[in-house]
Amino acid sequence: MKTDIEPSNFIEDFIVEDLEKGRYPYVYTRFPPEPNGYLHVGHSKSLCINFGIKEKFHGRCNLRFDDTNPTKEDVEYVDSIKEDIRWLGFEWDKELYASDYFDETYEFAVRLIKKGAAYVCDYSAEEIRLTRGTLNEPGKESPYRNRSVEENLRLFEEMRAGKYPDGSKVLRAKIDMASPNINMRDPVIYRILRAHHHRTGDTWCIYPMYDFAHPIGDALDGVTHSICTLEFEDHRPLYDWVTEQCGFEMPPRQIEFARLNIKNTIMSKRYLKKLVDSGFVSGWNDPRMPTLSGMRERGYPPAAIKEFCARVGVAKANSEVDPSLLEFCVREELNITADRAMVTESPLKVVIDNLPEDAAIEFSVVNNPNNENSGTHNVVLRKEIYIDSADFSLDPPPKYKRLIEGGTVRLKGAYILRHVSTEQDLDGSVKAVHCEYIEDSQSGGANAAMKVKGTVQWVSAADAVDVELYKYESLLVDPKDGVTDFNERLNPNSLTVVKGAKAEKFAVGKPGDTFQFMRMAYYKFAGYSDDGTPKFYRIVELKDSFNKR
Ligand code: ATP
Ligand code: MG
Repeated sequence: MKTDIEPSNFIEDFIVEDLEKGRYPYVYTRFPPEPNGYLHVGHSKSLCINFGIKEKFHGRCNLRFDDTNPTKEDVEYVDSIKEDIRWLGFEWDKELYASDYFDETYEFAVRLIKKGAAYVCDYSAEEIRLTRGTLNEPGKESPYRNRSVEENLRLFEEMRAGKYPDGSKVLRAKIDMASPNINMRDPVIYRILRAHHHRTGDTWCIYPMYDFAHPIGDALDGVTHSICTLEFEDHRPLYDWVTEQCGFEMPPRQIEFARLNIKNTIMSKRYLKKLVDSGFVSGWNDPRMPTLSGMRERGYPPAAIKEFCARVGVAKANSEVDPSLLEFCVREELNITADRAMVTESPLKVVIDNLPEDAAIEFSVVNNPNNENSGTHNVVLRKEIYIDSADFSLDPPPKYKRLIEGGTVRLKGAYILRHVSTEQDLDGSVKAVHCEYIEDSQSGGANAAMKVKGTVQWVSAADAVDVELYKYESLLVDPKDGVTDFNERLNPNSLTVVKGAKAEKFAVGKPGDTFQFMRMAYYKFAGYSDDGTPKFYRIVELKDSFNKR
């Protein structure tokens, strides 16, 4: 069957080839998270690949929870995973659980025993490890390897019935202890484990291993392409062995791709959980976390994460991506979707001497110059305003393009101001600045063309709202002097809270709204702090360090 779909990476090359050779009549993928933590940005790559293939090949994609390890799994994680996938905008066809197939998986194990392809082994985990051999040496066959089918059937049934203590026996596939691939040296496929399972409760005291349950789950669901990360490449022969021994007519094809790694970014659920459990972060959705829920909390648009995955592409070799690429994608998206607002982080009072006390001059400003449909809102200029203290200098460095003594500057969206005098404290610090506004210097006015050093953001004292700014930095600092351990690389300054900033009212709308605070950064309105002060999370800075490189 000829397909006219253009493949755009090596995985899609395989799929097109399989369709054309008639190996599969359709395309069916799955996303198989283990519900032992929240999804992180690495998972979004796998999501984009699996759901991307579904969309491109008009196929299907299931969400299948790989919940075969009861000690680490939890419904909280199941719920969060579903929420995060929906947030990215993907829809799964079926929601499935490996644990739903515990009966079938057990039956397949019995079938293997009957064929003489599996046996019960009394070795401890340690003994199995010691007899497995090495890359250069074959393993040693277990003395239990040649038990009769009848004995194996009886023992396996008794394992299930709870007759033996945890760890005292396992079921092993009978393959080849001399195989150059260690995964093929009689791998364990079932173990005894008395643990409460989040779905099956205490029904089972034996659980299948991932390498056995996974191919069976794929095959039972009708999955055609089982896409996973590179570390499973060596498991592929076992994957194929299991589907063949179980007798599946249309065995799925496993294809491996390189994991997404981002510099200075923790991408392991186990370690992320440590950060949560130790209280270093406020939770899985802490805005500094590289989890999808953390990024949502931070204000990252889902479209930016998908664009990032598309730009990274699909490769067969592991590499490390710079986090600035993700930030670039976030900035690109927000540039179009986020309204502009004015905020002074460190407010400096400016008195406009030639305005009357009760002056209230309204200016209409465009919400987002990069989005025609964003509309406008009004800002009101009054006698007392605030600018940022960094925008005035008594002792300006060279090339300083803001307000200086005797100088001029434009107030964004309003008039040009000329400096008149400076009020200083005894210690020399600037208390307030006095200026005059220049008549008709607003945009379109007769004096609009007047040359000024720069344009600064401002807020009127009477209208401004006190806000808190949460500024985030990376959780990890660069590895230096051979220090590669995460614990030693944790950044003690990953959060700075700035109080006393002043924002125009426009920014305090509904929680979740995103803004470009002009000349500062992109921020998300994140609701109110305990004392009722509006708080904003810094999503990403304005500076585009990626393009410069
Ligand atoms: P972790 O090591 O963080 O626990 P995992 O691989 O064990 O990750 P799973 O829940 O098993 O997590 O992953 C679900 C799917 O997401 C798997 O198919 C896995 O290959 C994929 N995945 C996980 N991490 C990444 C990553 N960094 N890049 C690409 N795909 C990933
Ligand atoms: Mg895993």
